[in-house]
Amino acid sequence: MTFTPWQERSVVVTGGTRGIGRGIAEFFARRGAAVLLTGRDGRVAREVAAGLARSTGGRVAGAGVDLRDADAVEAMAAEAERRHGHVDVLCANAGIFPEKPLREMTAADIDEVLAVNLRGSILAVRACLPAMERAGRGRVVLTSSITGPLTGYTGWSHYGASKAGQLGFLRGAALELAPLGITVNAVLPGNVRTEGLEELGEEYLRKMAASIPLGRLGETADIAHAVGFLASDEAAFVTGQTLTVDGGQTVPESLDALAPVSVPGPPSPSAP
Ligand code: NAP
Repeated sequence: MTFTPWQERSVVVTGGTRGIGRGIAEFFARRGAAVLLTGRDGRVAREVAAGLARSTGGRVAGAGVDLRDADAVEAMAAEAERRHGHVDVLCANAGIFPEKPLREMTAADIDEVLAVNLRGSILAVRACLPAMERAGRGRVVLTSSITGPLTGYTGWSHYGASKAGQLGFLRGAALELAPLGITVNAVLPGNVRTEGLEELGEEYLRKMAASIPLGRLGETADIAHAVGFLASDEAAFVTGQTLTVDGGQTVPESLDALAPVSVPGPPSPSAP
């Protein structure tokens, strides 16, 4: 098996302006890959890219791409290929998670979440396909979630549907693209400290951290390392799969299952 150095890779990261996506972009930039990161506002994306290029010494460009706009998503793939010569890794990461109880949910709320998280992911993969075919190789890594595929959460039913929907898409896409040497996999993050998660408030973060067996929220680097594996040559035989990165959060059956185990002390010396 031959391994292509990261320096010869061209990576597209949607939602790379902050949070998990910025962590993924940083991971690849540090390893020498050429990165195009995107967000809705081109000026913000270019600023974040310039900052990452300075801090990592890597090649990072930014572009304004609203994932709800199919033409803009097509232009994203064209821009990555024009800048870096090819596209061989797509991290379809951008997503939104507005809280909305089902009783208050409007059709527009549902459309918005599905448009960015599900339709946007599919559009991004479709847009990058021709470039991956030309490159003769491809790695797609979706950022899904534990919420939807593995767990449920009141207030996030539309979000859970979008994240579970990504996995239905990934299985079909993995089969269609396998003959082209393109793999399609997903990471399922648990609760990761990002700007988006911090907007849910300190109380939310504290309670979440308390329900994670490893005793802390995830860091963006925790997710980036998993993405890096799925994007690597070493993962050539992995497709249509998910990798949960949640500090064990989905493992306990109940809060009691997280209680420390009482270890019996040494036997007391028996009385003479
Ligand atoms: P975040 O901090 O809110 O960042 C979201 C990113 O998505 C930003 O870069 C944002 O860019 C971009 N974005 C939002 N709407 C967009 C649109 N319409 N078009 C293009 N880009 C858009 O979120 P995060 O916590 O890093 O989450 C990233 C991904 O991980 C999401 O798919 C989320 O569902 C998933 N996830 C997160 C967690 C967690 O605990 N943080 C857990 C499980 C799954 P701009 O604002 O610049 O447009």
